[in-house]
Amino acid sequence: MKSVKIKDKEFELFLTQETIETAIDNIAQKISDDLKDKNPLFICVLNGSFMFASELMKRVSIPLEVSFVKMSSYDGTESTGKIKEICGLEEDITGRTVVIVEDIVDTGYTMSRMLEQLTAQKPAEIKVVTLLLKPDALKTKVQLDYVALEIPSDFIVGYGLDCDGYGRNYPNIYKIKS
Ligand code: 5GP
Ligand code: MG
Repeated sequence: MKSVKIKDKEFELFLTQETIETAIDNIAQKISDDLKDKNPLFICVLNGSFMFASELMKRVSIPLEVSFVKMSSYDGTESTGKIKEICGLEEDITGRTVVIVEDIVDTGYTMSRMLEQLTAQKPAEIKVVTLLLKPDALKTKVQLDYVALEIPSDFIVGYGLDCDGYGRNYPNIYKIKS
């Protein structure tokens, strides 16, 4: 499909499945080389990363474990605004190599918060993998070890990413028409 419509919003084709999965091949290779013998625990952040996580995991050829978490928002104080907390992590990550698998890093606040909370649990090391990065949108310095694709700051859907809950199932990525 060249374009899609979700509710009243129009989106145009931006990245094909082939482009995305070639980029995933590349980082999967690097991760396999870098983390062999480390018995890593991959922590995939739902909902957005489900499709990326599945394609990435098929391509990483070393012994590893996979787990899933969500970042749930709650209202903080007036100064802190919405606070995001990791929810659903059942594994003990003490002393382990942990790999966070995210769909997209935009301002970087979500990833910073995740890193803060996971670091408090004393893993041996944390690596960050993201399918997409919007470098111009970053508002905080954040650790990023593997970035599959860098994109402009436009709003996108597909390949796990949603618009009001819809569009996550598209095998391509679409960007909003301006
Ligand atoms: P950050 O905290 O880095 O600003 O935002 C990260 C989260 O914002 C992502 O995990 C994702 O849920 C959402 N997000 C950021 N940019 C986009 C986008 O272009 N499309 C969609 N669907 N979600 C986005
Ligand atoms: Mg996400």
